[in-house]
Amino acid sequence: MSKFSDSNFSGKKVLIRVDFNVPLDETFQITDDNRMRATIPTLKKILDDGGSVILMSHFGRPKDGPAEKYSLKHLVDHLSELLGTKVDFANDCIGEEAQHKAAGLQPGGVLLLENLRFHKEEEKGDKAFAEKLSKLGDIYVNDAFGTAHRAHASTAVIAQFFQPENKMFGLVMESEVESAEKVMHSSEKPFTAIIGGAKVSDKIMIIENLLDRATDIIIGGGMAYTFFKAMGGSIGSSLLEEDKVDTAKELLEKAKAKGVIIHLPSDSIIADQFAEDASISSSLSNNIPDGWMGLDIGALACEVFSKVIIQSKTILWNGPMGVFEMAKFQHGTKAIAQAVADATNNGAYTLVGGGDSVSAVNQFGFADKVSYVSTGGGAMLEYFEGKELPGIAAMK
Ligand code: AMP
Repeated sequence: MSKFSDSNFSGKKVLIRVDFNVPLDETFQITDDNRMRATIPTLKKILDDGGSVILMSHFGRPKDGPAEKYSLKHLVDHLSELLGTKVDFANDCIGEEAQHKAAGLQPGGVLLLENLRFHKEEEKGDKAFAEKLSKLGDIYVNDAFGTAHRAHASTAVIAQFFQPENKMFGLVMESEVESAEKVMHSSEKPFTAIIGGAKVSDKIMIIENLLDRATDIIIGGGMAYTFFKAMGGSIGSSLLEEDKVDTAKELLEKAKAKGVIIHLPSDSIIADQFAEDASISSSLSNNIPDGWMGLDIGALACEVFSKVIIQSKTILWNGPMGVFEMAKFQHGTKAIAQAVADATNNGAYTLVGGGDSVSAVNQFGFADKVSYVSTGGGAMLEYFEGKELPGIAAMK
């Protein structure tokens, strides 16, 4: 595999797997273009070198072949604007039109291919389909970290059709992989992982894997209450995964055996219903009255968690501390974002990843106050679960 920034793309046709899976409203207007913006530096470098660009992406989850709703043509005008150059479009990602348009691209030219998932071969990782795609470019660049955990035709299988010197990560992928590897393999201690969100079941594997790496694990959000239940607490009607109580117990025991400190929120903001206009109060998290539910970490938990965070040298944050979408229950997540920003200011390396924690740091204005915000929710989670990501493995 070559290094993107050391390469010169003059006269080359570069086939790039991007993640342009952006949200659209009902009139096909883009409501959040962050994923498109993220790849612009990669595309600009190639175009400035005198290369041309062929872009391929998935878009939504089409079930049965082509569908207007999932056409990437809706992105053409906005992409032209972002790049400051006209973008051409091929109505299918393989076949004659795509081949013809790719072959005719001049230096500085940009071609966007139609949604890869209009062909079921994409998600099946079909080799013949990947080979057809590969014929469109001289060089393959993967800049789609968000799909790196999928062994699809365009994200992994295609890499075998390019010589090592003709395949590489783009700038987004390069920095995603660098920052994840830094936290996973060369973290300075104390290393605190902050894990939140709704479900223990989604986070068991990441916690297990982090038990071998982190010094401290902070657990917040709805998942914390299954742990309190495991320790014999009363949690009212807070979120509970009954079938994960034993797993929570085991995780606590394993942590103890490995000398990893698990921090649970000793107090909670509780509500009498899951609603913006609920009555609220505060309570010890292991003694929540019947009919009440914990929807955010409490003031004491904020204080204790912040202290742990500020003393850390490496921080990984995945998942909110409470129902941050509702104003009454966002204080905990905000306080943790502030502490992570303060730790960054103190010289810690801080990585925030996972859809909801990323929305939270963006919403609260902390995105540029942490070391790195990862764009790949599922991919990042799987990476920290210790799994090999096909999109990365295929390049190495
Ligand atoms: P996840 O996708 O697992 O990271 O979970 C994120 C979701 O968990 C967000 O939508 C939060 O509103 C929700 N959440 C966080 N804390 C709680 C809680 N205490 N009770 C219910 N839901 C929660």
